[in-house]
Amino acid sequence: MRMGEMCPMKRIFGPIINGTDAEARVKPSNDMPGIPQETIDRVLDSTNIVELIGSFVALKKIGQNFQGLCPFHDDKTPSFSVSPEKKIFRCFGCGASGNAITFLRRHKNLPFPEAVRFLAGKARIPMDTEEDKKRERQLFCLAKSQEEFATQLHSGTYRSPVNYLTERGIKPDTQEEFGLGYAGSVKDLITALKTSGVKEKEIPIGAGVLKEKNQGLTCPFMGRIIFPLMDPKGTTIGFGGRAIDTSTQAKYINSSDSPIFSKRRVLFGLKQFRRSNDMVLVVEGYFDVLTLHQAGFKNTVGLLGTEISVEQMRILENLARNA
Ligand SMILES: [Zn+2]
Repeated sequence: MRMGEMCPMKRIFGPIINGTDAEARVKPSNDMPGIPQETIDRVLDSTNIVELIGSFVALKKIGQNFQGLCPFHDDKTPSFSVSPEKKIFRCFGCGASGNAITFLRRHKNLPFPEAVRFLAGKARIPMDTEEDKKRERQLFCLAKSQEEFATQLHSGTYRSPVNYLTERGIKPDTQEEFGLGYAGSVKDLITALKTSGVKEKEIPIGAGVLKEKNQGLTCPFMGRIIFPLMDPKGTTIGFGGRAIDTSTQAKYINSSDSPIFSKRRVLFGLKQFRRSNDMVLVVEGYFDVLTLHQAGFKNTVGLLGTEISVEQMRILENLARNA
């Protein structure tokens, strides 16, 4: 008999779906001073419960759900089930059930705020500390910089990057989908940031887009085609830059490592990745990704080089597992 027949998922998740299982719900916010309900909801929405529980319990996909041995009782048959769709778990043997926060509280013996903080950290959701606020401002700077780089690419002022992309066969639709840009003018970039409300003293902290030099500001990406590097949710966390004139500059550079950006933790094309054929295509560079996407292989991501990090392997594992 297959496991799916032993524990029909409809039966297991029935009570929770119907909303009668109190444990599966988050308690009202007034029980948890200091953490807004909105933050808790965001944390739960952003958490991949299968990945979280799967890091503690071996899970196997059965139909729409995942099953394993229950960590909360002496389980001999897999009676513990996780629903990625409902973002909940439930044990058919001992009745343990709940969401990602409930699981962490029980499994790691964490107080509620610590469990939320742990998940918020994984999902990179700010908890309103000074550090979180700084991070939010940096992400805002990055988003506005990306907009300005795209504006400069399509402004008509700079022919060489447009010609270069055309020569490489990158269609306008693809350029737009991946948010490509061009760093042509530091002055225009600073003006755009100021216009969008970034304060003068915050500009240099824009996660490496601008740096202070000789009492002025400089952008390390000048003269380069810009490839936004995003997390899977589509938030821009850094940039890659391809020099047009490679006689005087390194061909490729990317944002330096910071609390926001780590080259070890990024793949190009994560936002645009689409599942297909139970397969993830892994290539080396930006243009490989763009070209394959154009050819219909939307399940392609780029390593930004010839080496692969442990962190990138984990991201790929996730993509492959869900492919
Ligand atoms: Zn159990």
